[in-house]
Amino acid sequence: MNAIDLGTLRPRLPSPLEPVEDERFARHGVRLLLKRDDLIHPALPGNKWRKLAPNLTAAAGRPVLTFGGAYSNHLRATAAAGRLLGFRTVGIVRGEELADRPLNPSLARCAADGMRLRFVDRGTYRRKADPDVLASLVERFGSGHGAPGDCRVIPEGGSNALAAQGCAELGRELRGVSEVVAVACGTGGTLAGLAAGLAPSPEAPDERPARALGIPVLRGGFLGEAVAALQRQAFGGPAGDWWLDERFHFGGYARTTPALDAFAADFEQRHGLPVERLYVAKLLYALVTLADEGAFRPGTSVTAVITGCPDPVAQPPERSAQS
Ligand SMILES: *Cc1c(COP(=O)(O)O)cnc(C)c1O
Repeated sequence: MNAIDLGTLRPRLPSPLEPVEDERFARHGVRLLLKRDDLIHPALPGNKWRKLAPNLTAAAGRPVLTFGGAYSNHLRATAAAGRLLGFRTVGIVRGEELADRPLNPSLARCAADGMRLRFVDRGTYRRKADPDVLASLVERFGSGHGAPGDCRVIPEGGSNALAAQGCAELGRELRGVSEVVAVACGTGGTLAGLAAGLAPSPEAPDERPARALGIPVLRGGFLGEAVAALQRQAFGGPAGDWWLDERFHFGGYARTTPALDAFAADFEQRHGLPVERLYVAKLLYALVTLADEGAFRPGTSVTAVITGCPDPVAQPPERSAQS
């Protein structure tokens, strides 16, 4: 068993911070900055690096078993890390029916990186955090990798206490930079850590604390409790100042509308930033809307965390929110 040294992958940390000129903010006296976490590493971009790094260090070279949907960025990042760092990976994928079809480009990439893919029905997948269900999945799919129990389980989306602690570094990199730091949310692990890291350090108690804003890309209204639970596990209780605006899911995960697509294409044109469509487009749309609504006082700086980059071969088929 080999220790894992993520430093050999030469991550770009701290990630770059870029001011952008955008009249949709400037006309309200608001300054926009982009935190380019998408540039941290080409195979493990954005928050996937920040969440996986502490988990892989803890796994110390043991096989990693984790979970995701058919287009999961987390599964792809885990598989790539396994190939680059030399540990085995097992991906449990939602949807038994996928086993009988050709792999989509995202899962094909996972398989090419050496991930063993195992497909489970949706009912089992939903109950995967139940200790009995998890134990049986590990027994069925984690075997062949050494002694039973000798594999490290990372939950769906990579979000656990270690992941939130890893994302606290994002907040620390942004202390004192702006009044608001906004991020798109799936499981909420990134927001949980970001908010904790933004809280003023004991050495600089007079520093003006920044607030973290989460934009959920899934519908359902469950995220507030998920973030609070992750903060309890990672930091022992509520940490930092955060809030959610749940209006910008555009119908749910991987859903889009013609207006959102046009917005993202226009943002790319204006700023030369490749806009990832599942998360980042919804975040930027939310910020432009909030600026227009006067949600940010004149003189405010707002930082948008660019958590990922578009992946041309791994996009889900277009789904319109109206259909
Ligand atoms: C996974 C992902 C997120 C969501 O992060 P959570 O910690 O699950 O909230 C946001 N943006 C991008 C680009 C992602 O790939």
